[in-house]
Amino acid sequence: MKYIDEFQDPGLARRLLDEIHATVTRPWALMEVCGGQTHSIIRHGIDQLLPKQVELIHGPGCPVCVTPLEVIDKALEIASRPGVIFCSFGDMLRVPGTGRDLFQVRGQGGDVRVVYSPLDALRIAEQNPEREVVFFGIGFETTAPPNAMTVHQARKRGIRNFSLLVSHVRVPPAIEAIMRSPECRVQGFLAAGHVCSVMGTAEYPELAARYRVPIVVTGFEPLDILEGVRRTVLQLERGEHAVDNAYPRAVRAEGNPAAKAMLDEVFEVTDRAWRGIGVIPDSGWRLSERYRDHDAEIRFSVEGIDTREPAACRSGEVLQGLLKPHECEAFGTLCTPRSPLGATMVSSEGACAAYYLYRRLDLGSARRQGQASSAPGAPSAPFPADASANVPPLEGSSVV
Ligand code: SF4
Repeated sequence: MKYIDEFQDPGLARRLLDEIHATVTRPWALMEVCGGQTHSIIRHGIDQLLPKQVELIHGPGCPVCVTPLEVIDKALEIASRPGVIFCSFGDMLRVPGTGRDLFQVRGQGGDVRVVYSPLDALRIAEQNPEREVVFFGIGFETTAPPNAMTVHQARKRGIRNFSLLVSHVRVPPAIEAIMRSPECRVQGFLAAGHVCSVMGTAEYPELAARYRVPIVVTGFEPLDILEGVRRTVLQLERGEHAVDNAYPRAVRAEGNPAAKAMLDEVFEVTDRAWRGIGVIPDSGWRLSERYRDHDAEIRFSVEGIDTREPAACRSGEVLQGLLKPHECEAFGTLCTPRSPLGATMVSSEGACAAYYLYRRLDLGSARRQGQASSAPGAPSAPFPADASANVPPLEGSSVV
């Protein structure tokens, strides 16, 4: 398929790998920020093809995974109320809240609907003026502009029965929080290309300079990721720490001015809690004063939520890059995509889901041989057969 196949070319991958192998002289730890990149890395075995000195640490860039439990529980509470139509992307329906999920609310009679765009939810509100329609607005800088536009449209067209349950987060403050952590091992970042296609690259030079880390904007296909790794490692070996755009076919320095203007119009920056990580200052958006009457949290006064995370789930450590998914005791036993303990196992961008989908057979055999914590056997060539052919797909996913 054009625009896909050329970025999965094994011959070009081999050349990039050879350059990376020739460049590296000592250990480096790089973090890919985005869950989509994590899935591509694990699916294609990229981490296993790199020199042993290059470690890829999986970052917190899965929107479903970082949505706080308290917000999930608020969604469950609102969706349970009579007269409410609760709309969401499919990924969120199986994310465990305290004791249940949105699928179970639907099974108990709640009107929970999967939509593929926030505008679908707005249309439902227009068609059902006697009902309250709520859209679950989660995600990073990628999903925030269409959600902002939808609220803007609701206000402009006087659709008063539409509201947004907002849990939007921003990448740069998360990078800063990671770098400030005393346990941080990250020496370079692969920044998420789709986020930068909206926001541009202007937020990164200050971070790169302050923490002396290279930040390379990277895409999602195997060659994009290998090129991102190559450029990051090259900078590290040279002692440089610049922002570099390795994804110019999608990212311009200024980003998308129209999308940014819509964000500024509808949202304002606020502190946000990240599931498993905690509150990060200025790391999110909420509706600005002008649009506050479309805020579902205010409209439904959901207070007094008592949250409880499963004790066995270590997704907070996974999201901070402190633990690989297969190092969690519950991985593949107590916790599977069909019976998830944490959001990282159920989301289509979650690191635990990636290891389960593409590595669980290798990991199972390694465990049987008494090597539970070691990495599974490396493939001999780019790229190994897609292991996902043997496992069931996750539920519908539309959040990026
Ligand atoms: S494998 Fe399951 S229990 Fe363990 S960290 Fe991942 S989501 Fe949580």
